Amino acid sequence: MTTKHYPPPGKKMPQSHERSIPAVDHGPDLYLDFQGQRLLNLASNNYLGLAGSKEMKEASIRAVEEFGTSSGASRLISGNYSLYTALEEELCRFKGTDAALVFGSGYAANLGILSTLAHRKCLVFSDRLNHASIIDGITLSRATHVRYRHADPEHLEYLLAQKPVQAPKILITDTVFSMDGDRAPLPEILNLCKKYRVLTIADEAHATGILGRGRGLVHELDLEQEMDLHMGTFSKALGSYGGYVAGSRELIDLLVNRARSFIYSTSLPPAVVGACLEALRQVQASPQQGEKLLDLSRQIRSFLQRLGYDTGKSTTQIIPVIMKKSRAVLQAREDLVRAGIYAGAIRPPTVPEDSARLRICLRADMTHKEIEVVQKAFSTISARQYQT
Ligand SMILES: *Cc1c(COP(=O)(O)O)cnc(C)c1O
Repeated sequence: MTTKHYPPPGKKMPQSHERSIPAVDHGPDLYLDFQGQRLLNLASNNYLGLAGSKEMKEASIRAVEEFGTSSGASRLISGNYSLYTALEEELCRFKGTDAALVFGSGYAANLGILSTLAHRKCLVFSDRLNHASIIDGITLSRATHVRYRHADPEHLEYLLAQKPVQAPKILITDTVFSMDGDRAPLPEILNLCKKYRVLTIADEAHATGILGRGRGLVHELDLEQEMDLHMGTFSKALGSYGGYVAGSRELIDLLVNRARSFIYSTSLPPAVVGACLEALRQVQASPQQGEKLLDLSRQIRSFLQRLGYDTGKSTTQIIPVIMKKSRAVLQAREDLVRAGIYAGAIRPPTVPEDSARLRICLRADMTHKEIEVVQKAFSTISARQYQT
């Protein structure tokens, strides 16, 4: 048996785009282990450092002790337990909605939401830089995928105006973009959606825990009433695992009945749900952590810009350091390792051609010491060397 014919022949992938799983250890911690070195970790989405916190670990352990290590079935069979109900009630309070539903992951949530709400005769408007789980959800729904230029309401309106008035329409956008760290222009987008009668979905994966006192960009802009569904994940700033969606009782009931990635998959184990619940409590108890992280990010971003680095349109804790060529990015990552830092090298097809970049994720538990390590490392390696 050979894999020669699988997948079918396509465009050959250049060597600088090939991927492999890095041998990192302690990946969610502030310092991780890589090739026998202890490196400052700028590559994890554990933005608030919650994943290693004593409270989160204890909540998880308590849940295991009470409920065991597996949920044993799908939620609709016997995989429900009291922590789930508590978590969804907490989500409703957190998001200010009537109902909420937890999925196995953010990926499963987007697949379930889109394949339930969208259908063959539907048009789904989606930002070109939306997350892969959104793209896969649209594909699975068989709806027509209408991609608008990144964060460009004018292009969105141009496309909306071309489509039949009576065609059912859905719009979905990341609120903070995962590879660029910029924000969706929600007020303009939502105005258009009102005008053209479009169902709206926000993916708050990278905003949850940080923007809007932890509740997300929609909340920060006071637009909760305009957004039909809010989805997000517990796997990033919330330091656990699992996806969620919050919205009206009617929409959530529809998902319970129709979303196949919810119905046909075993529900999350107690260790995970216990940690999710604790994370929501932590964020609500210390809502200023996100603001602190954004201040720190402003500081590091202007430092990098003064050194001549291109940080794109980032306004959040995700800072791209754009270098165009994949080879340059791999070299920069190696040089940073020597300077004591681990950062992600993001290359096509994850980002468009000629926009390969280091992706730096800052975190709220960085102190003065860590900021100095970052500043020193980027001063040592030269900006000019990588940007041609
Ligand atoms: C990470 C991410 C997801 C998927 O969430 P998981 O819980 O990791 O599966 C969905 N949407 C966006 C924008 C993301 O960044």
